[in-house]
Amino acid sequence: MSYLPIQQVLKTLPVGTDVTIKGWVRTKRESKNAVFIALNDGSTINNIQAVAEAGQLSEDTLKLITTGACIAVTGPLVESQGAGQAVEVKIVTVQVYGPADPDKYPLQPKRHSLEFLREIAHLRPRTNTFSAILRIRHALAFAVHKYFNDNGFYYLNTPIITASDAEGAGEMFRVTTLDATKPPLTEEGKVDYSQDFFGRETNLTVSGQLEGELGAMALGKIYTFGPTFRAENSNTTRHLAEFWMIEPEMAFYELEDNMNLAEDFVKTVIRYALQHCADDLAFLDNRLKEEEKTKKKEEQSELGLLEKLQFVISNEFVRLTYTEAIEILVNSKPAKKGQFQYEVSWGVDLQSEHERYLVEKHFKKPVILTNYPREIKAFYMKQDEDGKTVRAMDVLFPGIGEIIGGSQREDDFDKLVARMHEVGIEPEALWWYLDTRRFGSAPHAGFGLGFERLVLFVTGMGNIRDVIPFPRAPKTAEF
Ligand code: ATP
Ligand code: MG
Ligand code: MG
Ligand code: MG
Repeated sequence: MSYLPIQQVLKTLPVGTDVTIKGWVRTKRESKNAVFIALNDGSTINNIQAVAEAGQLSEDTLKLITTGACIAVTGPLVESQGAGQAVEVKIVTVQVYGPADPDKYPLQPKRHSLEFLREIAHLRPRTNTFSAILRIRHALAFAVHKYFNDNGFYYLNTPIITASDAEGAGEMFRVTTLDATKPPLTEEGKVDYSQDFFGRETNLTVSGQLEGELGAMALGKIYTFGPTFRAENSNTTRHLAEFWMIEPEMAFYELEDNMNLAEDFVKTVIRYALQHCADDLAFLDNRLKEEEKTKKKEEQSELGLLEKLQFVISNEFVRLTYTEAIEILVNSKPAKKGQFQYEVSWGVDLQSEHERYLVEKHFKKPVILTNYPREIKAFYMKQDEDGKTVRAMDVLFPGIGEIIGGSQREDDFDKLVARMHEVGIEPEALWWYLDTRRFGSAPHAGFGLGFERLVLFVTGMGNIRDVIPFPRAPKTAEF
C-alpha cells in the first residue's frame, strides 16, 4: 500500500498497484451501475476518478460524499473506460474525513466569476484556476532562486521595517507601537516618535534596493526577494499594497550589463515555467481562450497565453532611449487622434497605455527603454553627461507595461549628494548609504521586478489580485 500525491500516482504507478488517494471531491456522479467520484488533492490540475459499484457504499456514506468533502479512497489502479484518463481507482474502502454541507459550500462544480472568488480568497485555492496559478507561482519563485544561484548571486535579506524612504515617494505604511488615540506629543504639538519603539519614525519597506547596494558593494552580486509594501491609493489591476519584489544588485555592472541580465533572467524563468508547468499552463491557456470568445472582437487579444510566452522568450528585446520612444509616441496614431488617456511629451512619466502601445503595436516585441529624464526618476540613478537624463531602464511587456525598473547607480559621491539636496533628501539621514561612495566606490547597477507582475504575465490573468494568495489593496485585507 502506498500513499502518493495524485500527480505522482498518475505519472509513476502502473495499473494493478494498490493505492490510497486523499483529496477533496470535485464531483460525484451516480449511474445505474456505478458511482464516479472525481478527486483532487492540489498536486496537479488533473483529477483522479474513483469508482464504486452501485450499492457498494452505504446510503449514509454516499450522502457525505459531495463537492468539497475531504475523503480517502483505497483500492487498485485499473484501466479507465472513461475518456481523458488512462487509469482510475476501483474503490475497496472509503473514509470520509470532513463532509461539506452542499447547501452551504460556496464552491460548486461550475465556473465562478473571479470577483466572487476574490470574496472567498480563503477557499479559492481549491478551484482549478487558482490551484494552477499557485503552482505556477511556486515554480516561478523556485526558478528565480535557481537562476541567481546558478549565476553566482547571493540571496540577501534586507530589512522589512526601515527608517529610510528609499524612493522619497511618500507611499509608506507607518510602523508604530504608539497609541494612535493619544500619542505622546513634542512641545510643538507633533507626534513624538522619539518615544516610539525604535526611537524614531519607521515604515514598512517600499524597496530593498538601498540596502541591496550595500550587499553588492561587499559580496559582488546579490539579490533580494522579499515582501514590499506601498500605500498605492489607486485601484489598478497592476498594483498591490503588499507584493514581493526581486531586486538583483551587481558591482561592476553598467547599464548595458544590467539590460543583458534582465533580459536573460526573465526569459530563463519563463522557460522554466513552460518546461515544468505544462499542464497548468495548458489549462489556463484554454480558460483564457474561452474567456476571449465572450469579448467583443476588437477587445480580443491577438495572442493566446502560450503564444505570448513564446513571444517573450523568442524575441530579442528592442532597446531604445526614452527620448526616441517619446518621438514615436508623439507621432503615433493614438496621440494624433487624442486616443491616449494621458497626453505624452518629453518629460512625462509613461503610463501603461503608452508602454503597451510601444510593445504591442509599434515594435511587436518586448522593449527596454533607457535614459529617462532625471526629474521623473529616483535620486540614486547615474546621471548622464547631458545633464538631463539618467541611466535608467524599464522593461516593458505586452498586456502589462512596466514589469522591471532599474538603473546604473550614481557612484560619484559629490554628484549623489548634490542630487539629494536637489530633491530634498538630507544626506545625513542616509549616511550609511553614502559610505559606499565614500569608501571604495565602484560602478554598479541593479533592477526591481515585481514578482506578481511576472506571475500575472505568465498565467495570463487580468488582475494582479488573482495571482497572490491573499491580496491586499485599498479596503481589502480580510485576513
Ligand atoms: P509603476 O510605474 O507600474 O507604478 P513603479 O515605477 O512605481 O511601477 P518601481 O518603483 O520601479 O515601480 O518598482 C520596481 C517594480 O516593482 C516595477 O517595475 C513593478 O514590476 C513592481 N511594482 C511596483 N509597484 C508595484 C505594486 N504596487 N504592486 C505590484 N508590483 C509593483
Ligand atoms: Mg508606481
Ligand atoms: Mg513606473
Ligand atoms: Mg519603475
